[in-house]
Amino acid sequence: MKFIIATHNKKKCAEMQRILSPLGIEVATADMLGITLTDAEETGTTFEENAYIKAYSGCMESGLPCIADDSGLEVDCLGGEPGVYSARYAGEHGNDKANNDKLLKKLDGVEYEKRTARFVCCVCVHFPDGRYLVVRGKCEGKIGFEEKGEGGFGYDPLFMVGDRSFAEFSSEEKDAVSHRGNAIRELAKVLPDYL
Ligand code: IMP
Repeated sequence: MKFIIATHNKKKCAEMQRILSPLGIEVATADMLGITLTDAEETGTTFEENAYIKAYSGCMESGLPCIADDSGLEVDCLGGEPGVYSARYAGEHGNDKANNDKLLKKLDGVEYEKRTARFVCCVCVHFPDGRYLVVRGKCEGKIGFEEKGEGGFGYDPLFMVGDRSFAEFSSEEKDAVSHRGNAIRELAKVLPDYL
């Protein structure tokens, strides 16, 4: 069975492919299929809603089962900020450096024990017959006092799991514990009931 994935991110597509291929699912981006999908506006107030919006729109436009995810960071002492605004926390979409600087400023003076946070990832699959499912994965950690490490993206250099930041993890190490890895593994468990 072929699924279209509502992302331009080839790494996300490869990660989904790795975990879903044992179920006989082939995952392709719109580019790979030679079609164009509208970038659905993420107007939801939860990760679940935004994942649904993207999967529904991609499914309706392509006629294929569509898989989409939405993810972000929740910091407890900031009431769950930046949450669904993670990508545009400092204003400009995807400016990782500005987002990290803003987060560090907001946490100025907060002691390490109180800097608890989690990455959350929701994945939705929407089928052409109207059925859909949404799963959630998370990964608990703490926000460090400065950026550490060269790998990863986004908030990875600030997100501490044990005594290392996610930017100091190899891709395999991150996949094994990450919010996205956990969400996709959960998806692999529940998806067979829908196929
Ligand atoms: P998206 O759901 O992939 O668009 O991610 C939204 C935003 O959440 C990203 O732009 C990052 O700022 C943040 N984010 C999501 N997942 C990760 C991660 O694994 N590492 C670091 N930042 C992440």
